[in-house]
Parts: sequence; C-alpha cells; structure tokens
Amino acid sequence: MLRGRNTAHDRRRTQGTVRVLAFACGWLSAEASTVLSRASGRIDFPIPAYLIEHPKGRVLFDAGMHPGLRTSPRKRLGQWADLFRISYRAGDDIAGQLRRLDLDPAAIEVVASSHLHFTHAGGLEFLPNARIVVQRREWAAAHRDDLIERNNYIPADYDHGHLIQTVEGEHDFFGDGSVVSFPSFGHTPGHQSLKVQLASGQIVLTADACYFRETLDRLHLPRIVYDRSEMLSSLLRFRDLKRSGARIFYGHDAEFWKTIPKAPVPIC
Ligand SMILES: [Zn+2]
Repeated sequence: MLRGRNTAHDRRRTQGTVRVLAFACGWLSAEASTVLSRASGRIDFPIPAYLIEHPKGRVLFDAGMHPGLRTSPRKRLGQWADLFRISYRAGDDIAGQLRRLDLDPAAIEVVASSHLHFTHAGGLEFLPNARIVVQRREWAAAHRDDLIERNNYIPADYDHGHLIQTVEGEHDFFGDGSVVSFPSFGHTPGHQSLKVQLASGQIVLTADACYFRETLDRLHLPRIVYDRSEMLSSLLRFRDLKRSGARIFYGHDAEFWKTIPKAPVPIC
C-alpha cells in the first residue's frame, strides 16, 4: 500500500540529517565516442536519479527516462533511438523506483532538474505534483525551436503543466546550505549540478556536466557538447570542489556506479 505521509520511511527521514538514495532508471549502451570523443568501442552506462531526504522535505534530482522507451523508443526519440541500446526493466522507471521505497510519486513536491534531456526529464510526467526547479537558461532553451533541435530536447518529456521555478545561479533548497544546485553550463545551455552536505562530507551530483571519471581527470569531453568552453569551466569547478574534499558523483560512470550504495541503502 502506498502512503504519502507518516510511514516508517517518513519517521526515519525526520530523525537524522541529510541522506541520499540512488537508483538507476534503466541503462543505455552507445558508441563510446558519443560520450568520450576519443574513445572507441561501445560503452554501457546507468541512467541515475537521486532522492535527497532532508529533515524538512525531499528533493528528487532528475527523473530518468520515460517508461515508453522500454517498448517503443523510436516513437519518442525518432532516429536518435538508433544510437542507443536500451536496457530498461519494468518498474525501473522513476514511479516504479519511488513505489519500491513505499513512496507515492504524486507525493514528490520538488524536482531539481539538472537539464531537460530525455535521460533526465523523461519521468517528469509521472511526478504530477512536483515543482520543477530548473535554470532559467535551460527552460528558455527548451522552448526555442532552434535550440530544441540543436540540443535534442523532447518537449513531450517536460511540457506537462508542472509548476516551474526557474532559477539563476545557485539555489539553496532548504535555506541551510545542505542541498544547493549551481550552474554547470556547457553540456546544455542551462545545465545545473547539485551539492549535498552529508554527515560524511559533501557530495556533488554532476549529472551530464561530467559523464565519467575520465571526463574530469583528462578533460575528455563528449563528441556532442553545446558549449565546449563553458563545459570546461564547469569541469574546472568540479576539480576545485574535489580538491576541497567533495566526492564527485559522475553522471553516467558504470565503474563509479558500482562503488556507491543503491536504494534502499542510503548514502549518508
Ligand atoms: Zn544530457
């Protein structure tokens, strides 16, 4: 049974400090050069989403892929679908992952959207009561025909009448500095990442501003980038954060993904 409030899950949430639950809304396989320009062969990667639990509420960071990609990817993605092999089991979409945690997707009140690509925004449709916090530049780009085409946005992923909160620069979700989004432009016009302060230290959920450890260590960019110079600036900012002790959570790194706990085990 689904309960929005007063569940054992809620009681755990209010006892401690901030924790993060990680899950993969499916996996993709693609030519490696798509995501690392100088690489060859194919590469498999997870499509992560994260639920951040703070004593004052929850923030979902990204919403994964639309469940329709399980059965008819070409219908949603057009010929882009041919670039990917999609592994997406029933129940691994964002609604299914939340239900597994005994959470009603309709009870999610806030989504921090890194950006509006189909791998991150496809599940928004199934979070009907969420306020979507997105950088103003990203939302604007996703509503301009030329930039929709250039960035391969799919408006059917994000145009569902949600309450949209556009932000510029950093956004502090709970007013205490523990969950803060910040611009990491370059991958798309208005990409943002999320800093989360856990008892064990700070983590940085980079999303697509840094696909892999290799992206950061060697400044090895993807083949498709909206603005290379902005993306490099974002990567240098991640390097600074790493030097100051933050743990970097790479956006789609299968090797890194193996090293972190997955829901229902929290990262804390
Ligand atoms: Zn992306």
